[in-house]
Amino acid sequence: MMKIPMTNPIVEIDGDEMTRILWQMIKDELILPFVDLNTEYYDLGLSNRDATDDQVTHQAAEAIKVHRVGVKCATITPNLQRMEEYGLKQMWKSPNATIRAALDGTVFRAPIMISKVKPVVSCWKKPIVIARHAYGDIYRAVEHRVEGPGKAELLFTNENGETIRKTIYDFQGPGVLQGMHNRDDSILSFARSCFEFALDTRQDLWFSCKDTISKDYDQTFKLLFQKVFQEEYQEKMEAAGLSYRYALIDDVAAKVIRSPGGMIWACKNYDGDVMSDLVAAAFGSLPMMTSVLVSPDGNFEYEAAHGTVTDHYHRHRKGEAVSTNPLATIFAWTGALRKRGELDGNDPLTDFADKLTQAGIDTFEAGILSEDLAVLCDPAEVKETPDALGIIRAIRSRLEASLS
Ligand code: NAP
Ligand code: MG
Repeated sequence: MMKIPMTNPIVEIDGDEMTRILWQMIKDELILPFVDLNTEYYDLGLSNRDATDDQVTHQAAEAIKVHRVGVKCATITPNLQRMEEYGLKQMWKSPNATIRAALDGTVFRAPIMISKVKPVVSCWKKPIVIARHAYGDIYRAVEHRVEGPGKAELLFTNENGETIRKTIYDFQGPGVLQGMHNRDDSILSFARSCFEFALDTRQDLWFSCKDTISKDYDQTFKLLFQKVFQEEYQEKMEAAGLSYRYALIDDVAAKVIRSPGGMIWACKNYDGDVMSDLVAAAFGSLPMMTSVLVSPDGNFEYEAAHGTVTDHYHRHRKGEAVSTNPLATIFAWTGALRKRGELDGNDPLTDFADKLTQAGIDTFEAGILSEDLAVLCDPAEVKETPDALGIIRAIRSRLEASLS
């Protein structure tokens, strides 16, 4: 069989531990036999990040800006224990944070749904995608513990030295204080990434905050989203038959619970932190969450939402057969291949990505499941729980059948 050719490269970002093992298996079994794979490879395995003083992470991010499509393996974010384990020069920053900052992007997390795993919320039929603004608010707040009576004020000094002063509270006793901020440019980028993603995935966009209570802060978010919508995206959204709506966060929370799903829910930083875990848990399984980083100018980096599955890696190294779920990592690859195909007008590549996606779903629907899913299903529906390579080979045989 002739391999599918590629014109432009995908930025391939390798990672750590069990997901690095899966990465190679997925390439060897599911991609290289069928695609004349063109990637620009960056090794973000922790040892190489350390050897390059983390320059490789910055280079990978810059490469995504050039080639517009990346696929990333899960990577270790070092802590003290990892510093010792790997003998690191420094506690390098999270690669995801570095890449997100470089691309000024927003992360969208969506569950992979299979009929055997029922969402806890029984009316959810389609994925709910959470977009979390990843800058500012309480994550960059300045806090102060007030020990006794005193007056707290908000003081702003502009560049000419003029000041604005507002009383926050006249404390009669102990209490707490917090000062937080956000920036228009960050909110605008967030809004643009959300509209780009809505158009890309053909889903409606909902944005929520609390402008009735937060009359300047949250109101700014609401107005900037509205401005980006009206000035840049309204026509495109309408032409695609898609809608944008703003509503209060409590209102959206109540509506989402009673909806069939199928929308993107854009949240402020803290709301997104909470809602993304809530929605992921309610859909059933962390290993089935996908994640894509989208920049406001339409660059895409696909990955699995889970980490490097350390415990499985240690068992794998001891020679045990481990049933790690490869599907979210496979979907990261199919996301990137499909996007590359779309941007390059390479229909065979897009078609291949769709077929591989379907082969993955079909394998799970046939009852060939990783253990994390098997425990969530009716036991009568589980046929086999092979190790990761066994699952990947089962997917390959379905893929070969659909390609021939
Ligand atoms: P994790 O690797 O996602 O694993 C947490 C647990 O979830 C695992 O112990 C496993 O449960 C289950 N799990 C996750 N993915 C699975 C899969 N594909 N198949 C089957 N089970 C799966 O998170 P973590 O243990 O908190 O973090 C491990 C390392 O990953 C850390 O060094 C962290 O820095 C890194 N991390 C990276 C990313 C990223 O690059 N995007 C994200 C998160 C964490 P059982 O053990 O019960 O089987
Ligand atoms: Mg969280």
